[in-house]
Amino acid sequence: MSDLDLSYILNQLGEQHEEYFNAVSPPIVQTSNFLFDTVDDLRQAFAAEYDAFLYSRGNNPTVEILKQKLAALDGAEDALVFNSGASAIFCSVLPFVKSGDHIVSVKAPYTWAQRLFEVILPRFGVTTTYIDGTAIEHWQAATQANTVLYYLESPNSWTYELQDLSAVAALAKQHNIVTVIDNSYCTPLYQQPIKHGIDLVLQSATKFIGGHSDVVAGVVSGSKAHMSKIFYSEYMTTGAGATPFHAWLLLRGLRTLPIRLERVTRTTHAMIAWLKLQPWVSNIIYPLDAQHPQYALAKSQMKDAGGLLTFALEVKTVQQMESFCNALKRFRMAVSWGGHESLIIPKCAGMPAEDFDASNATHRQVRVYFGLEDAEVLQHDLLQAGKQAGLNIH
Ligand SMILES: *Cc1c(COP(=O)(O)O)cnc(C)c1O
Repeated sequence: MSDLDLSYILNQLGEQHEEYFNAVSPPIVQTSNFLFDTVDDLRQAFAAEYDAFLYSRGNNPTVEILKQKLAALDGAEDALVFNSGASAIFCSVLPFVKSGDHIVSVKAPYTWAQRLFEVILPRFGVTTTYIDGTAIEHWQAATQANTVLYYLESPNSWTYELQDLSAVAALAKQHNIVTVIDNSYCTPLYQQPIKHGIDLVLQSATKFIGGHSDVVAGVVSGSKAHMSKIFYSEYMTTGAGATPFHAWLLLRGLRTLPIRLERVTRTTHAMIAWLKLQPWVSNIIYPLDAQHPQYALAKSQMKDAGGLLTFALEVKTVQQMESFCNALKRFRMAVSWGGHESLIIPKCAGMPAEDFDASNATHRQVRVYFGLEDAEVLQHDLLQAGKQAGLNIH
């Protein structure tokens, strides 16, 4: 945390109640543009739109309150809020690359980061090398004379692999390389990459920040110099900023972020202890499990972790996989995570059913997210679905 305490950031920072009738909850300042009394005032706003309320594609008072809180949570000088995590990714990479440049990225980053690296950037002469980011030597070896950006995702939301944030940041600094991390898994409450020397931290605010599965949004935070560079380039040209209403929903979500995360984390630890006792479960992958290959690193750079993990089911057929998932009543089948509701996605949903191979453990994997339900309710649901699917449950 920065010098400010967490409850001050969430309850007070950036809020000026006297400017809006002493209302506790800030207004949704639903306006496209802002008035000026004099030509000189307007001139100043034109000259420095990054610091002005001129037009809501740039700055808006409701969004501004949220930005201040999000920047403080990350221990950053400033933040920008986007209308999706994907636009946060796009706008934190694009401003720092030009034709002929090279990126080093962790392998299997978030789907739409991959599309950016594989489909969009090559059209403009920017190439990317994917590496196994778990060892600093791999970053070193992949770095070329034209490498300008390192892209991290720690832990990765599908593979749960980590990168040593301090080591990667130090290497980047030696070569004058910008570092960008997707910190969606941890949120700033559980990991603060800027403290480790990472330049730009992004999150899908759709997940834990929003927390109620009702808004799609993203955040990027970093130094004022980096943020204003992003503001005057891709942020303004794509018009990808969050709307005042979405910012207001995110402010509402933020108020309870610590208590939601605490609850989700407690449930997660209880569920893992329980899952380990189940003969129909194998291969639990979770960064703060003592059996995770990078457990020591996770302990050293993450405060905790909660909600999202993967395990395999002891099934013989794809029909068993499907009947297990179809029979769940409290876990719902859907993408996303970080909300109030528990969710499940089986790996086999991403492949033709006839390609399922039970001898391949990854085909038997499910990614689950534990929401705000009681652990006992979730356990009961898994057991009843497992019985219907003919798993080894007695
Ligand atoms: C969901 C997600 C994103 C993308 O965010 P959207 O808000 O869906 O655009 C990026 N990274 C990770 C790890 C995610 O889970």
